[in-house]
Amino acid sequence: MDEPAGRTYVAVPICAPATVGDPLVPGGLMTESGQPAILGVLALYDRLGADEFDDTDLHTLRTFAGQAGVAVHNVRVHEEAQRLSLTDPLTGLWNYRCLRESLRREVERATRFGRMLTVLVLDLDHFKDVNDTYGHAAGDVVLGEFARRIRIGLREVDVAFRQGGEEFVVLLPETDAYGGIIVAERLGSAVRDIPVPIDPRRMSGGAGVAVDRVAISVSIGIAVYPEHGATAQQVLDAADDALYAAKNAGRDTYRLAESIPLPAVDVTDPSVSRGVADGKTDQQGPVAGASGGPQPPRQARGR
Ligand code: GH3
Ligand code: MG
Ligand code: MG
Repeated sequence: MDEPAGRTYVAVPICAPATVGDPLVPGGLMTESGQPAILGVLALYDRLGADEFDDTDLHTLRTFAGQAGVAVHNVRVHEEAQRLSLTDPLTGLWNYRCLRESLRREVERATRFGRMLTVLVLDLDHFKDVNDTYGHAAGDVVLGEFARRIRIGLREVDVAFRQGGEEFVVLLPETDAYGGIIVAERLGSAVRDIPVPIDPRRMSGGAGVAVDRVAISVSIGIAVYPEHGATAQQVLDAADDALYAAKNAGRDTYRLAESIPLPAVDVTDPSVSRGVADGKTDQQGPVAGASGGPQPPRQARGR
């Protein structure tokens, strides 16, 4: 921004409080030369009631800038602590805690504006084999690269989370099943097409394995709110069931959840027929299992 035209002016830096070694503040509190980090500048132009700014003005301004520095610093520390509590340190994606809150908020928003929300649940295929063959450290590299490919394959409004282990969730606001399938196909090939390069020195468990590229694939379950679930939990469960169907279908693929079936209507029951006429039955049914065979309980799937 341009400086305003002025005959006289005074400017003081707004500095972080001079305490050393706060890891929560990006860039730290001190510059490399040992000076307090500058957060901003406070500049005043054309003193009212006098020709020039004097030492008293400067002193007042320094006191004010000192207090402003403490306030800005505190806000940043708080924001950074909050960000860290919602972030997965290995992949840099949002964590499970953040997923719960974001999903609740997105479902609320989709309801209010009558929009759709698509949920993808992604799980790396045979990831245990990657750890067993190349070692846990190499597995971590693969997870980081997988997360990076998810992130670059999404629009800015889409959000990716690490739900836990090698399982991830993507929220696609204002997206229907067709859009979800396109994203699932894109992410699937982004993972499949280019094996992940691994530094052979990181292959602790794979002594003697002369490979520096690890081929991976991902299975994906897709569910759409409100088509496949009437609540945040239901739509997440529906995507989870669809993921299991994709695993059952041989992995390295995606499956779309089945729509909520309308409840069976007893035409002889007058109260039921009134309910249908009111249009209130649509979202009340249970979430259907995804296509792809029998559905074991969710807990049996290593979550
Ligand atoms: P499936 O195709 O059925 O999903 O098989 P899978 O081997 O991927 O599934 P399974 O649940 O048997 O194994 C998941 C593995 O993911 C086991 C676990 O050690 C590994 N894992 C989970 N979190 C991490 C992590 O942070 N780092 C590494 N390196 N491995 C992890
Ligand atoms: Mg897996
Ligand atoms: Mg898993």
